[in-house]
Amino acid sequence: SRGKEMEDANEVQRKITMKLLAVAQSQFIFLELGFALFSTAVAMGVALYRYTGGYLSAGAVVAVVLISLEFSRTLLLIGEFFFAGALGREVAAKVKEFLDEKPPVRQLADTPTEELPSSVDIQFQNVTFTYPGADIPAVKNMDLTLNPGETVALIGRSGSGKTTVVNLLLRTLDPQDGEIFYGGIAEQKLTLEQIRSKIALVPQDPFLFYGTIEENLRIAKQDATEEDLMKALRGAELFEFVQSTPDGLKTKVGDQGMALSGGQAQRLAIARAILKDAPIVILDEPTSQIDVETEAALHRALSRLTEGKTVLLIAHRLSTIEQADRIVVMESGSVVESGTRDELLTQGGIYAQMVQTKRRSEGQTIAAAE
Ligand code: ADP
Ligand code: MG
Repeated sequence: SRGKEMEDANEVQRKITMKLLAVAQSQFIFLELGFALFSTAVAMGVALYRYTGGYLSAGAVVAVVLISLEFSRTLLLIGEFFFAGALGREVAAKVKEFLDEKPPVRQLADTPTEELPSSVDIQFQNVTFTYPGADIPAVKNMDLTLNPGETVALIGRSGSGKTTVVNLLLRTLDPQDGEIFYGGIAEQKLTLEQIRSKIALVPQDPFLFYGTIEENLRIAKQDATEEDLMKALRGAELFEFVQSTPDGLKTKVGDQGMALSGGQAQRLAIARAILKDAPIVILDEPTSQIDVETEAALHRALSRLTEGKTVLLIAHRLSTIEQADRIVVMESGSVVESGTRDELLTQGGIYAQMVQTKRRSEGQTIAAAE
């Protein structure tokens, strides 16, 4: 019968599709994992060879391996992108796309084609990014400008897209639509290395590897002098603490090393960023409560780090937000308010509400605080 015929045809079609998909997927996983393992192994081998030859310090070896892992992670992410889209109705189309060898995401340049200026502004133009498998974009048609020397506070509820913006800026994520300009140059003309060399990141939850304080700092600048290190520690208000430990700069921290408090780890990340001395600083502020004294020290450290830099603050505390030249409020992946503190207070939007709520919870009236 006609119905049976169609069923059979469908079944054949289904089998072909599944076969194609299986082949494509196994090839991809193989390539992807193989490359990640291979590149890490090579990096490790070369680093260890140089280490035993006396060319590299132990810290440098760790840094090389960490960096190669970082590259693998980016590759794995690209893999994820490709396959998330392959599920669902468009399976066959996606497999065809794969076989046509279209690159799954836009590539950055392999070698620099343009020189980045020393003072870098950043511009998001109509940027849209959707996580693999998600129905709605995490960042949607976003326009954002960071002018040289300007401090912008990016605020918004949890899930509004702030961290995604940071990862787009660092090029850990690749936008599906729109463009990001660094110093007026579109990102495709730049290498990852060029972009990252201009940005110092103080993450929400700083990563310390098992090694000395010195090694943890030198990740930011291999050839730093002892004086550079001390200056960075002073700037981050960690100098006294380091001096008070028996081994000073050689004190082991991280997994099995001396336990640092959250505030100390944060300031070590700030010291790293000071040492890197990049023109753009991104700070993802911790949400956890810290004591008043630590908060004051953090603020002083931050103002040293951000002096004269282009700064993006992912801020949760009103006291941090108030230091910004401009406040940008995000909601559901879009910018919904942007202006100076006074402008936003006058507008009576989300920021104004946030300030009011905070003041009420602190038992202050608005009149008393103004
Ligand atoms: P914020 O930093 O403002 O809290 P995020 O940028 O982390 O917001 O998240 C924005 C949106 O994207 C949220 O809806 C979140 O659930 C989603 N999201 C974040 N990371 C991922 C991920 N790795 N995979 C899928 N969805 C994610
Ligand atoms: Mg976040």
